[in-house]
Order: sequence, then structure tokens, then C-alpha cells
Amino acid sequence: VEQPMITFSDGNAIPQVGLGVYQTPNDGASAAVQAALNAGYRHIDTAAIYGNEEGVGKGVQTSNVAREDIFLTTKLWNDAQGYEATLMAFEESLKRLGTDYVDLYLIHWPAPKMDLYVETWKAFIQLQKEKRIKSIGVSNFNPDHIDRLVSETGVKPVINQIELHPDFQQTEFRAFHDSQNIVTESWSPLGQGKLMDNGVLVEIATKHGKTPAQVLIRWHIDMGLVTIPKSSNPERIKANFDVFDFKLDQDDLAALAKLDDTKNRLGPDPLTADF
Ligand code: NAD
Repeated sequence: VEQPMITFSDGNAIPQVGLGVYQTPNDGASAAVQAALNAGYRHIDTAAIYGNEEGVGKGVQTSNVAREDIFLTTKLWNDAQGYEATLMAFEESLKRLGTDYVDLYLIHWPAPKMDLYVETWKAFIQLQKEKRIKSIGVSNFNPDHIDRLVSETGVKPVINQIELHPDFQQTEFRAFHDSQNIVTESWSPLGQGKLMDNGVLVEIATKHGKTPAQVLIRWHIDMGLVTIPKSSNPERIKANFDVFDFKLDQDDLAALAKLDDTKNRLGPDPLTADF
């Protein structure tokens, strides 16, 4: 399958659509990853805290897709922030994933009260120098957090993975990222499944002969975002990747823009989240 890619400021490229595996149990992760790779996905998004890096790694190893053709992301959990702790946590993640590098490593949350994200970032920079990580990025960071990384280390994250769906569009963050040449990646891109019955969405889906889930995924693509819809159901995994034969038009985008409301946040607010 020919699929759209976005090129980072470091020159590496990420497939715009990946498989999310949050809440996919470790013993089901291998099957989900294999279903995705068979459907044509080449991008998988996991995290140490998801407890399924082993299953994801098994799925990658037992597939008939070469490791170098797969874009693999994992994330550093908050309890491992700090320079030395990050280096150790990264080794553990690689061991569980059964690989000797990741394509993208993200600081999962800034955890501002702990105030260790700059030290953590220095370890990321070191690991990238050692070619253990191809690209380094962040998740749930605010513009202030990103500015601080840049002013203290001179190295900019290539991507920020944040909560983003058509009814929670993160306009300000997207503008900031665009101004900094940072890619925006949407988590909970389907609004955790809660958006499927929305009347506006259903109407657009009917018009294009697609499902609401496919319209949601297409919206992220057409907005220039990277997106990682989650499913562990092989049929849905396949359907969620069948989104490259249509495009939303200006009317569709305008109708979906009206759903945007800052009240529709589903997850924690990074400013106040401290785990
Ligand atoms: P999502 O928006 O991807 O929704 C997933 C849910 O939508 C599924 O559980 C299922 O119920 C439903 N669904 C999926 N495909 C469907 C289909 N075709 N038809 C009908 N329903 C369908 O939610 P998510 O899992 O929260 O987010 C996706 C990924 O984002 C995660 O797996 C994870 O990788 C990442 N994530 C990251 C963070 C972070 O802090 N960085 C936080 C949350 C999620």
C-alpha cells in the first residue's frame, strides 16, 4: 500500500497512519501488530507503561516485514525521568522490544513538578548520537516546555504527540508546532470511539461511502497530522487503514471544525497532570 509520510526536521520520515496499542494486552499485541503489518501499516506506537512492548516486539519479529521497513515508537514513562534512569529505561525497552534501535523515542509526559524533563532530554540526545534512536520527540508537552528544551540543549523535538480529535482540535498547539517545524501527532484520534455516532460525522461518512472511523482518520491525514488509531480487532485494524482512496473537501472540514471545543478534552491536562 502506498501511504503518506511526513518528513521530520531531522530528515527522517514517519508514516502518517500508525497502529496505537494502548490497552492492548501484552499477549494480544503480537496478533494486533501482525494484523496491522499484513494490512499495510508500517508504523506502530507503544510505550513502556502500556506493558506490551514484548508482545509488540514479537509481532514485529514474526512478521514477514523487515525491521528496517517498520517505524517503531516507544515512550519513556515518568518514573524513569532523569539522565541515568532514562539510559537504563531505554535499554529495558529495547530488550523487551527485541530490537537494537527505535525509530522514535518520546518523553511520555513533561511531569513539570518533578522537573526532570531537561535532564531526560539530554539522555535522549546522547542515545540519538549513539544511533540507538533515529528521532527524538516529546508527548503532552506545552510550548513552554518545548521552548525550555531548546534553550537549555539547543535540540528541538521533531514531534509532539498530543490529544487531538475533530472535536478537540488544539489549534494553538498546532500553530506553535508549525512555526517551529515540529510535527503534530494526534493521540486518541477517534475520540476513544466516542465520536462515532456524531451526526455531522455520519453524514460525511455516508457522502463518501466510508465509515465514521475512516472519516476521522482521513481528517487527521488531511490536516497534516500523524495519527495512531487503536484497535485490536483485525477487521477494524484493516478498515482503519483503508483511507487512502478518498479525501475530505472544504465543506467537510468546515463542518468538522464546528465541533471543536476545548471542553472536549478526554485525557489529563498536561499542565496539571503529575503521575
Ligand atoms: P482512539 O481514539 O484510537 O480510540 C480507540 C477506540 O476506538 C477503540 O478502543 C475502539 O473502541 C474504537 N475503534 C477503533 N477502531 C474502530 C472502528 N473502525 N470502528 C469503530 N470503533 C473503533 O483511542 P486511544 O487508544 O486512546 O488512542 C490511540 C493511541 O494513541 C493509543 O493506542 C496510544 O498509542 C496513543 N495514546 C497516547 C497517549 C499519550 O499520552 N501520549 C495517550 C493516549 C493514547
